[in-house]
Amino acid sequence: MKILLIHPQNYLQRFSSGIYGRSLRYAPLTMPTLKALIPQELNAEVRIIDEMVENIDFTLSADLVAITCITGTALRAYEIAKKFRDKGSTVVLGGIHPTLQTEESLEHGDAVVCGYAERSWPALLRDFTKGEMKRVYEDLEPFSPSLIQAPDRTGIKRKDYIGWCTVEMSRGCSNSCDFCISHRFHHSYICREVADVIDEIKSMSSKLIFFLDPNLIGNREHAKLFFTELKKLKKWWVGCATLDVVDDPELLELMAKSGCKGLLMGFESFCQDTLHSTGKTKNLGKNYTEVVRTLHDYGISVQACFVFGFDSDTPSIFEETAEMIVQAKFDLPQISIYTPFPGTPLFEQFEREDRIVTRNWSLYNGQNVVFNPAQMSIKELEDGTDYVRRRVYSWSALSQRFFEKPAWVKPLVAMSYLGFRFYQYRIKRLGTQEFAG
Ligand code: SF4
Repeated sequence: MKILLIHPQNYLQRFSSGIYGRSLRYAPLTMPTLKALIPQELNAEVRIIDEMVENIDFTLSADLVAITCITGTALRAYEIAKKFRDKGSTVVLGGIHPTLQTEESLEHGDAVVCGYAERSWPALLRDFTKGEMKRVYEDLEPFSPSLIQAPDRTGIKRKDYIGWCTVEMSRGCSNSCDFCISHRFHHSYICREVADVIDEIKSMSSKLIFFLDPNLIGNREHAKLFFTELKKLKKWWVGCATLDVVDDPELLELMAKSGCKGLLMGFESFCQDTLHSTGKTKNLGKNYTEVVRTLHDYGISVQACFVFGFDSDTPSIFEETAEMIVQAKFDLPQISIYTPFPGTPLFEQFEREDRIVTRNWSLYNGQNVVFNPAQMSIKELEDGTDYVRRRVYSWSALSQRFFEKPAWVKPLVAMSYLGFRFYQYRIKRLGTQEFAG
């Protein structure tokens, strides 16, 4: 049996049309994980295609094509599904969007896998070989983290990714921010056995590990046990964490000693009312300048996500926030637009209020305005976020951050800064509706 596992990409990320070439990517885990779950007895010939780093060869033949997608890549996934179904392949869709929009996805695929695939994907494959494949596979049994297998990374072209050593220590998030899809897909926060993750990391030759977890510290005690063991491997790593990490010096110390070099963190807004109303409670009362300073003291750089377009945002938010971002000296600010992903309460609320302006899912990537903002026009929101990107990546903003860095960090900061500056500028050029698809 021939199986194709396809990771489609939005127009912003696809290597043939997107912002970066191949080299600045990190390797996604979904398809190597699905590959590891394919039952041995099927003797399947498996190929993974990641549109971040290669074009899909539509002349390939396969008995079964599995495509994973999020909302921003759903239309591309449907386009790919159609091409392979027209050639006679059976197409299975899975991932966050098909899980939350199952009826829609069933119009484009022969079957949909909802939620975690650890048990349902092998079951689907066995049914397929018997000619008994069902339309929907959803695992409703209690899920144990011990079911998570190490991904099968054979066939991943390491040279294609700046970060090929991607790992997950946990799934889900212990918080429930209203704009986030994570807690809709993952029903609870779970952590893998420390020994399993450590063994997986030991098997990787790279010094730098990329954790893809939405929140590495959702269970602090487990995180401490994990970082204690990770420290022994003498790796460097980057990952995501919530701001309350700075409330726990013991945890911070362990993270730093275990090789943490950078954290991606959702700061989202300086406005307390906004943080409160969107459920971003871990940020409440935090002085962001202090947070950055504390993390820098531990040698940890900060990639800081900010979002614009909240209902409490007025046109004055852009200039005010841009200046505060510059003053707080974040290493890499990341600017996004509030996005009501289908499947979230936010989407349902905006639908009730008749504020959704497009259902073109390709535009649901955090870079386009897909709803009517409460206190400004769509154009004001687009222009405002563009202004913030330009201000926080201006040369004067860089100079304020750059000269305070330790010497060893400066080349890294400069390279990352230039890459992000390029990315943020290209978003403006590519992030328009005409490119959607
Ligand atoms: S903390 Fe981050 S990952 Fe967790 S729910 Fe909020 S936005 Fe999502």
